[in-house]
Amino acid sequence: MSDKIMSCADLDVIDTIIKVEGKIVNLTPLRVGQGKSQEFTEATDNPVMKIKGKPVIPGSSLKGAFRSMVEAYVKSLNDQKYRVCDINDDKCTSCDDHSYCIPCILFGFKDLASRVYILDSIAEEFSIGQRTMVTINRVSGGQLTGHLYTLDFVEPNSKFNFSMMIYNLDLVNQEKEDWKRVSVDALKYVLKTLLTEGIFVGGRKSVGYGLIKLTEGKLKLYKSPDLLTPKEYDLAKVI
Ligand SMILES: [Zn+2]
Repeated sequence: MSDKIMSCADLDVIDTIIKVEGKIVNLTPLRVGQGKSQEFTEATDNPVMKIKGKPVIPGSSLKGAFRSMVEAYVKSLNDQKYRVCDINDDKCTSCDDHSYCIPCILFGFKDLASRVYILDSIAEEFSIGQRTMVTINRVSGGQLTGHLYTLDFVEPNSKFNFSMMIYNLDLVNQEKEDWKRVSVDALKYVLKTLLTEGIFVGGRKSVGYGLIKLTEGKLKLYKSPDLLTPKEYDLAKVI
């Protein structure tokens, strides 16, 4: 018996770093909540999540949305070489001799570090609005009188900083290994969707809230042996 090293565990040596940057704009009201406010200084019952007074889309929310998209992408390939493991399955391996779990390879799992990092997106231009919500009677479907509440939202066309790092996957030059090529294609699919159709994050997605798009997308490529001097690209042209 030997401790075989998984072929997808290649992050001990970094040869490629990709940095994707741009501005996220919300096209519909966006709500990432922080739960009910307990502070008397808040003028609202249900504020949005903020960092230093500015609304934020946590990197973990974006990562979760991206992972779901990658799962859908991999399933659509319908190729048993590329799978999507059950996140509750303790025995799941990210890769073995003949198959690869692309979502785990990109976003990490128990046996594997993440190769994608997304920073919290903090608003740089924003306005906050309130909507009055009505509690619906779950049995009759009618309004419950006297059960109004307010929720804060980030109003459409607010602007957030976006920054994402990807390790050891070259989105500019093609990768040779199959599993890396599929990983690159899956990430390109996510970024392309983010640039064109947009994706949904936060609460009330089912009623169309939280549609965000990436604008002014730039990509920087750092390649070993010189990991300090990037080449810059227009993201839309690369993907
Ligand atoms: Zn997996």
